[in-house]
Amino acid sequence: MLALLVTAHPDDECMFFGPTLQSLRCQAVLVQLLCLSTGNAEGRGAERSVELVRACEALQVDRRDINILDDLKFQPQDGQSCVWSPDEVAAAVDRQLQQHEYDLVLTFDDYGVSGHSNHCATFAGIRQLAKAARLAHTSKPHFLMLESVSLLRKFSGPLELLIPRSACHDIAGDFVTLTASSSAAIRSAMALHRTQWLWYRRLFILFSRYTYMNTFKPMLV
Ligand SMILES: [Zn+2]
Repeated sequence: MLALLVTAHPDDECMFFGPTLQSLRCQAVLVQLLCLSTGNAEGRGAERSVELVRACEALQVDRRDINILDDLKFQPQDGQSCVWSPDEVAAAVDRQLQQHEYDLVLTFDDYGVSGHSNHCATFAGIRQLAKAARLAHTSKPHFLMLESVSLLRKFSGPLELLIPRSACHDIAGDFVTLTASSSAAIRSAMALHRTQWLWYRRLFILFSRYTYMNTFKPMLV
């Protein structure tokens, strides 16, 4: 099985999707990463791209399975003030989808965990592709979106894992919970994003549920 994870910036994969990378690997799903920008808002895009590759390798994603776009359409990258065009996102992701036959596409939901405009645009663009796929009656890929939760749940760390839930571990199912095999490994990988390893992100990675679990819903269109 082949999955494509689409993120907006270097560090999204560690901050928000670490359990996904670990859990899918445990299920023998090959995950490729498409990162739509180098995160060049402060002119450190090249540095951040290198950090992304190192962090992914720490999470056992091969560098050949990483595609980082450096496209003027997504400039200034990683800037809240810059609104990305969902049409351009759709076109960029569609080009990636033409290269391989993916079973799954995973990305943010409409709030994008933090409400960051680039995360929201990433969702909006991929939603266009999901809609087109539905109209064309194509069975693959399945489009899944990462659930954004309330502030209280967001910073509940691993607590929700203690709550019994009718978790569905069939990754083609309706509601999917993916749990981290090692939250420590996710924190270590995030630390490789040296330009981003600031005190508030250190706290985030410690207390965020996204270090311990990811829940996905189908992208309904
Ligand atoms: Zn981001």
